[in-house]
Amino acid sequence: TRVLLTGGSGFIAAHILESLLEHGYSVLTTVRSTQKGQQILDSHKQYGKDKLDFVVVEDIEKPGAFDSAVVADPPLDAVVHCASPYHFNAKTRDEIQQLLSTAINGTTGILKAIKAHAPTVKRVVITSSYAAMVDYGKPMTHIYTEADWNPITEEQAYSSAPFAYLASKTFSEKAAWDFMKDEKPGFSLTTINPPMVYGPVIHALPSLDKINTSNARFVSLLKGSPTTPCPPTVNYLFVDVRDLAVAHVRALEKPEAAGQRFLVTAGNYSNAEAAQIIGEEYPEYKDRMPVGEALKPGERPATGVNGYDNTKSIEVLGMKYRPFRESVVGVVESIKGLL
Ligand code: NDP
Repeated sequence: TRVLLTGGSGFIAAHILESLLEHGYSVLTTVRSTQKGQQILDSHKQYGKDKLDFVVVEDIEKPGAFDSAVVADPPLDAVVHCASPYHFNAKTRDEIQQLLSTAINGTTGILKAIKAHAPTVKRVVITSSYAAMVDYGKPMTHIYTEADWNPITEEQAYSSAPFAYLASKTFSEKAAWDFMKDEKPGFSLTTINPPMVYGPVIHALPSLDKINTSNARFVSLLKGSPTTPCPPTVNYLFVDVRDLAVAHVRALEKPEAAGQRFLVTAGNYSNAEAAQIIGEEYPEYKDRMPVGEALKPGERPATGVNGYDNTKSIEVLGMKYRPFRESVVGVVESIKGLL
């Protein structure tokens, strides 16, 4: 089975790529440059071109960006669309407009390209987000499920960089489901909606200042001192990136996953807990961790944490989730050499 994976040089996509290869798939991944593609091939020398190859798609936002990438030889059976900007740097109106249009056009662009040029594709899996589910109008403890949609408006999208990102994920997932309804293509769609994703960095990371957005809190903890405050936890839900990768593969394989979205989370965590675990597992970094933190592993703030129901992911995708400690150790092991 041949799968096109978008953005193989990213944090999550690198794990999806690994998981697809381990499960015997042949993977064609899109990257923004030949250099990034070559880096991926160089770190997977055990796989021949028939198992792993890349195609350059410089900017997913451009109309027709994926038109030639989806025409593959041998042809594609499925597509995993993971590439989308994840950062909180869009501050001006123009920057926010750019972020939104990259996320939305990237998503609709690949769906259009598949419908028009890749009739052999039967399943598409999109990495959406819990960002497309969270509703700040509800109490934090609301039990989130696949029925939840972020009600964010266009106007709110332009109010701040974090809101712009939340909107980019919400609007692009909505656009994908609208495409399915309006265009009735010959493939089915599944979306995977993870909250905060943590775990080992296995993509090429030249330096710690280039760390992906979700793992950045580990860099600030590891570079901190007892007087540096613990970064506040905004979203108390997480999933390990290795489990998230498996969820994408299962979504391709399970017939019942067609037409469904999945909240993929292991459960609650907090940054204070991350600091505590780092101190326990790595005595050499203990004196860098914030002190005076009341919370210990497993303890939750009295103000409550995000509720969740991950039953659907367990029942349909057969998910088994790693505990937070494994994610913490995974990320620290993978980046400590760059400290
Ligand atoms: P990364 O920043 O590591 O990955 C983003 C990917 O998108 C990279 O491959 C990047 O390419 C690519 N990309 C961004 N903009 C463009 C563009 N204009 N043209 C082509 N490619 C582009 O972050 P993650 O791996 O964390 O994010 C991957 C996906 O997961 C995103 O859809 C994100 O919204 C989603 N997600 C992430 C969560 C998390 O906690 N990490 C939580 C929920 C959802 P390049 O490598 O060249 O920069």
